[in-house]
Amino acid sequence: MYDGVLQNLVDELAQLPGIGPKSAQRLAFHLLAADPADTDRLVEAIREVKTRVRFCRTCGNVAEQEECRVCLDPRRDRSTICVVEEAKDVPAIERTREYRGLYHVLGGAISPIDGIGPDDLRIRSLLTRLSGDEVQEVILATDPNIEGEATAAYLSRLLSTMGLTVTRLASGLPVGGDLEYADEVTLGRALQGRREIE
Ligand SMILES: [Zn+2]
Repeated sequence: MYDGVLQNLVDELAQLPGIGPKSAQRLAFHLLAADPADTDRLVEAIREVKTRVRFCRTCGNVAEQEECRVCLDPRRDRSTICVVEEAKDVPAIERTREYRGLYHVLGGAISPIDGIGPDDLRIRSLLTRLSGDEVQEVILATDPNIEGEATAAYLSRLLSTMGLTVTRLASGLPVGGDLEYADEVTLGRALQGRREIE
């Protein structure tokens, strides 16, 4: 539609999730009209995140060092691990201010349709973390949808013989949705009302 570099930018923006061709075009013209100092900051922010952010070697959360902010914090309760699907679920739970334990990020959920099985998730490293006697409770905070429930069911079976308390978030979260979209009050209640899986 446009010449060379402008079309190139529109095409790149249209690759982003939730950005259709119209939005991509609007963003491209916004950037074209913007102050160069503003666009430089955007470019630099993208570059920095790509070079500096990595994943915590312990829990899989985003980190700027070997370990993430949560794992490095000595005030966190090390007897509880909250298992989530994605690193973006961590800030969702942090916002509730109801949780002081550690996390474990699986990197997805079991989904046979997408060819994702237990071996594709960070389950082995979870088992390694649970092999000591420091952890007493594992909270399964996978998404309230089919894949998340299947993953929670799989993990609860796997962990049932380890002598741990395994809990699942209480119902009340919007079914079929993602944890990250739940508001903090609802998510906080689901966390408080978590139930032990028999
Ligand atoms: Zn960590």
